Amino acid sequence: MAMKKEDLWQAVLAQIQLNLSPANFATWFRNTDIFLSDKGMIVVSVPSNFAKEWLEKKYEKMILKTLRDLDETIKNIEFKVVPLTPEKTPRPRAVQAHPAQLNFEEFSFDKETSLNPRYTFDNFVVGPFNELAQAAAWAVSETPGSVYNPFFIYGGVGLGKTHLLQAIGNKVMGVFPEKKIKYTTSEKFTGEIINSIKNKSIDKLKDEYKKYDLLIVDDVQFLSGKEKTQEEFFHLFNALYQDNKQIIISSDRPPKAIAALEERLKSRFEGGMIADISIPDFESRIAILKQKAQEKSMIVDDGSLEYIASAIQSNIRKLEGALNRLVAAQKINNEDLNPETTKRILKKVIHPNFQRLTFQKVIQIVSEFYSVPQKEIFLESRKKEIVKPRQLIMYFLRKEMNFSFPSIGKKLGGKDHTTVIYSFEKVCKDLEKNEGLAEEINSIREKLYSE
Ligand code: ADP
Ligand code: MG
Repeated sequence: MAMKKEDLWQAVLAQIQLNLSPANFATWFRNTDIFLSDKGMIVVSVPSNFAKEWLEKKYEKMILKTLRDLDETIKNIEFKVVPLTPEKTPRPRAVQAHPAQLNFEEFSFDKETSLNPRYTFDNFVVGPFNELAQAAAWAVSETPGSVYNPFFIYGGVGLGKTHLLQAIGNKVMGVFPEKKIKYTTSEKFTGEIINSIKNKSIDKLKDEYKKYDLLIVDDVQFLSGKEKTQEEFFHLFNALYQDNKQIIISSDRPPKAIAALEERLKSRFEGGMIADISIPDFESRIAILKQKAQEKSMIVDDGSLEYIASAIQSNIRKLEGALNRLVAAQKINNEDLNPETTKRILKKVIHPNFQRLTFQKVIQIVSEFYSVPQKEIFLESRKKEIVKPRQLIMYFLRKEMNFSFPSIGKKLGGKDHTTVIYSFEKVCKDLEKNEGLAEEINSIREKLYSE
């Protein structure tokens, strides 16, 4: 079945978005389209020569393969520069015309601040895995420059760092319109430093940065080894800090784990508030999927949501990508979604190394974490060293795998379901009071979902 070229390109973008960083995706695929489709030949329009060369060199294979997966009659592609006419420039805040229309909002951002208006606190789902970071971010946005300065967020890829950073920026922009705000990435900052050194305009650049009331620098792990940039950043940091300007930083790891980063910068980063975002639990993953489906005006059945949430655990961007894939498929084939169609559609996205969490893995990881022999978990022992891991195992089986209480009891050597309920509730209650336990649970969860 031949599909409309607009739909085809939307489907291609939905797929490619999964494989690239948001920055690369936005840089190279913004304002691209299918210009012409004729007898197995696709001509892709691109806005500049620069983009054309880059796409040909780096992404031609990927694009062709993605196109072929969707339509096997396609044989080859070409790129053609089609300069933008003013009307073609996407309008950032445009309302979605069609409920199933894909909207690649990574393409739109505010010129002055570089903030993308889609990232807000309102659409940021809070769960045990990120609530500390969210609460601190909220506090920073209420009184920038005074409570937590600098504010440092770290966590793995696709877990919401950029979203949270930008939510702070967007909120401050709304509440304090007079404040000057800048969002940048450490890579972009490095580029600016290098250029300004070349052009002998470094003082101008520094003066510009010193004017900001709120400076957000995303992904500072990339400053690793960039000595000159680190030095300039250190001075800029001090200047802003002394003026009570708010500095917000993110990284994929805590400051002390960033290699080749000057000690004095590390200690500056550690001087304020540090919060981490860990891997979302099953319930939070469902909540995020529901939120995203709603944003896209999609109706997805619970079975499909549960399938996605159990198959994708450690990257929220991928959860969202799976939904984008479903919208595209729904639109192209006009299919109703149910767990079977969902599984089939997402096979390519999810299949290769998807390993469902298993009962055995939960037992193994938790016993290892507390250094207790696995077999003791199944016995009657009331020793404290055993009781806690056993209770946590029950907790994880329920929380992450949705096991019923009676089946947990049965699997753990024939325990009564009331014992299981008691243990589960106890862990939930303890979690609220005990931050140490929350941290332990987060690290165990990370191990559960690593290969
Ligand atoms: P990171 O910067 O940590 O790699 P991002 O902030 O880019 O991750 O998040 C990846 C995607 O997941 C974004 O589209 C973001 O909106 C979404 N996302 C992450 N965390 C949440 C959350 N708690 N609630 C809703 N969406 C989220
Ligand atoms: Mg990011």
